[in-house]
Amino acid sequence: MPERKAYSHTRLSQYVACPAQLGFTEAKAPQERGRPLLVGIVAHQAIEDYMTDCVARRIPSDVDAVARIMDGLSIDRKDVLPAQVDLVRAEVGRLVMDFAETYPVPMDRKLMLEQELAFTHDWQPTSWWGPQVRWRSKLDCLEVSGTQARIRDWKTGQYVPTEDEVREGGQLDRYALAVFKAFPDVTEVDCEYQYIRRRYTQAFAVHRDQAPAIQEEVEHLMAAADADDDKEAVPGPACGTCFYRMACQDYLTCDRRTATPDSTAELAALHYLLKARAKDVEAALKERLKVEGVITLPGGKKTLQYTGSTKWSIQDVQNTMGELLGLGVKLKDCWGALTLSKTKVESLLKKVWPGREGAAKRKDMLDTILKQHGVAGTENRLTLKAVKHDG
Ligand code: SF4
Repeated sequence: MPERKAYSHTRLSQYVACPAQLGFTEAKAPQERGRPLLVGIVAHQAIEDYMTDCVARRIPSDVDAVARIMDGLSIDRKDVLPAQVDLVRAEVGRLVMDFAETYPVPMDRKLMLEQELAFTHDWQPTSWWGPQVRWRSKLDCLEVSGTQARIRDWKTGQYVPTEDEVREGGQLDRYALAVFKAFPDVTEVDCEYQYIRRRYTQAFAVHRDQAPAIQEEVEHLMAAADADDDKEAVPGPACGTCFYRMACQDYLTCDRRTATPDSTAELAALHYLLKARAKDVEAALKERLKVEGVITLPGGKKTLQYTGSTKWSIQDVQNTMGELLGLGVKLKDCWGALTLSKTKVESLLKKVWPGREGAAKRKDMLDTILKQHGVAGTENRLTLKAVKHDG
């Protein structure tokens, strides 16, 4: 009988999306973590701090507390680059403000924040890191009152899936199963995905009589993952959000990947399109640029040139592109902005905050970007410059 491993919703989702993803996770392979993910991790901590503060002071909502919470928030993480700290802090601050303005903190019931529920293979509660642990669920927010429970999951990204996609993913159904196991009196769990940036909630209820079907599916997937020694890679749509692309040979050699030109041009494209953060990619690109001087980008219409004398580093460009994409600027517009400049960044920000009414927000964000990633002058000072060329 194969070894019984410990699973969570995330791990089972990885397995369903592509068995190799779970294999990489189990092997503790290095992950490529983009800025939106880091913002999400830090935002969860900040929201927890904000709610704890409201509960302590018996105030359901207090937008004035957000600045104080943010001042006290440490972003001391190895995976947040020093140049990113202020931007991550600014973005998390906006998320917490959106949260404070949208979601009151209930005062009439006990809140369990970042609640960890862990179970053995026969669904007996156990400790999170216990030797017998088989299933773990970490709930952003749990409220239990008699036979009713409410679970909430904060979503900090831009994307809002359809309700069908959400139910198919099964995250809160599986969390509801954990609540039924941990709280025998609970007969119904109200589930809410809260998309904070959009100030939008998707809600549904899970009843105790649905628990056996959820449990059966979870156990079936855990058994399949246990028995799957090969965990083969299945390149496909899941590659788009996979943290392990740069380590995955199946991805690196698949049609999906080779559809774009390889070699240096591809490395450059990866950087500009924020598909890679790995230092070795940056180093390889710089080396190739030193040798080649000019690199033709995919499509052959543009080149990258290395001038080596200006202020924006490749990391600055990458981070700025990350900001713009994170704000909702379309990828194709960023691609058209390979010659990044203050003017170009301004024009891209207009797509997010148009017109006069958006002027103040544009200015704030432009100042932040220039402070973090460039120089606050009017000149175009890129280390890497993309220029059109004939042929
Ligand atoms: S990059 Fe694609 S194929 Fe490779 S592990 Fe990730 S999802 Fe699977």
